[in-house]
Amino acid sequence: MKCKRCKVPAVVALPSHNTGFCAECFDLFFTRQVERGIHSEKLFTKEDRILVALSGGKDSLACILVLKRLGYDVTGLHIDLSIPNSSEFARGTVERFCEEHGIALIVKEMAKEGLAIPDVKARLNRPICSACGKIKRYFFNKVALDEKYTVLATGHNLDDEIARLFSNVLRWDVGYLSDQGPMLEAENGFARKVKPLFRLSEYETANWSFLQGIPYHYAPCPYSKGASFTSYKKLWADLEEEMPGRKLAFYLGFLEKGKAPFQRQEALTGDSLAPCTSCGYPTSAEVCGVCRIKDAVSERK
Ligand code: SF4
Ligand code: ZN
Repeated sequence: MKCKRCKVPAVVALPSHNTGFCAECFDLFFTRQVERGIHSEKLFTKEDRILVALSGGKDSLACILVLKRLGYDVTGLHIDLSIPNSSEFARGTVERFCEEHGIALIVKEMAKEGLAIPDVKARLNRPICSACGKIKRYFFNKVALDEKYTVLATGHNLDDEIARLFSNVLRWDVGYLSDQGPMLEAENGFARKVKPLFRLSEYETANWSFLQGIPYHYAPCPYSKGASFTSYKKLWADLEEEMPGRKLAFYLGFLEKGKAPFQRQEALTGDSLAPCTSCGYPTSAEVCGVCRIKDAVSERK
């Protein structure tokens, strides 16, 4: 296959776009898809101060690198979860990457917050990932608001979004469906959240990361077995192979035609939120989930 733009041999084939590119033209394609997503969904502008959540994985690093190259004002935020044989490698990867690319970085250590994930795991009688996700989202939001960032960005790609959408549809979860999309506007106590890579698949992001020399972090979380959404991603990969372009079309179709009725329904029936009496984070209970986890961990010690 030849590169669609310059006709030299292609290094990346893109069946969903019925085309292929050489390394240089693929970089252009990738960057343009990101720009197109930012502009079409009005995610942010050059005036915004953007905090990018960096896990150490390729997607979040790709996200901050492409935004920096496009001239946006970005700062990285890494949450050190204190998970043995994993967190130190993730943190090292993020620190080296930011240093190499001249990107400002904030590191938040959960051990100092009384929320080291192994301690939380020892205390809770349920799978750790949902509590860990809650803790990460809490601190992403808290740092963004405390440090006056106007936007919080994550590296979720099209496959992540499709798997989440599919899972929400299977449960007809009105609350989640009304919120799903590449942008969630700021509201009382929540920063604006955006997903600039939403038009790009995992395959496209992985190829771009590889071609840009983004390091791959080889120490997965030891608690990650049976990660959610894996089977949905596989299902959609099979569908995409038979019907290239279906993933993006389904997702964009949802944004254009499917989301509004869920938003209307949620406005009528959704939970109302009030500040947590302990920390001020918006919650539908009196004390937010993270404060309750923190109390449970400190009681055990
Ligand atoms: Fe946290 Fe689960 Fe991810 Fe590990 S796999 S970092 S416990 S959410
Ligand atoms: Zn709280």
